[in-house]
Amino acid sequence: MSRDPTFFPFVEFELVSRSIAASPIEACGLVLAPPCAVWPDDASTYRASQTRNASPSPMRAFWIDPLEWIAQEDAAQTIGLAVHGFWHSHPRGSFRPSIADLQMRERLGDGAPDWLFAIVGRDDCGAWQLAVHENENLRRHGRRALLG
Ligand SMILES: [Zn+2]
Repeated sequence: MSRDPTFFPFVEFELVSRSIAASPIEACGLVLAPPCAVWPDDASTYRASQTRNASPSPMRAFWIDPLEWIAQEDAAQTIGLAVHGFWHSHPRGSFRPSIADLQMRERLGDGAPDWLFAIVGRDDCGAWQLAVHENENLRRHGRRALLG
């Protein structure tokens, strides 16, 4: 294997597929890219990983185990990628950030100024979609940002 199977392209198809496979549990993982990459200009360089959902209530919330986060971040660094955010799914909800998501963002504060908060959710018709929330639009409750 020449490619590290831990990371896959950060595109809607990949994240939706994993979210459906994990349902009814929330799927989650990291968003990775070269350190200087800018979203969405450098979208093609973005990758994602999937982690275990370590939440005690994984059907309603997600939690990335810090040790798993660090292990994946270390592996990413060896191929020139840095953490640019994280993603998770709402198997029974929309791709807009929940109250808990906004509170988590608040707690992270300036430690994650440019991070993406990608959410796979379902629209009014039940179709799975990915929304990429950047900091400045997170508070506007998630206009869906389409991937290139
Ligand atoms: Zn959420």
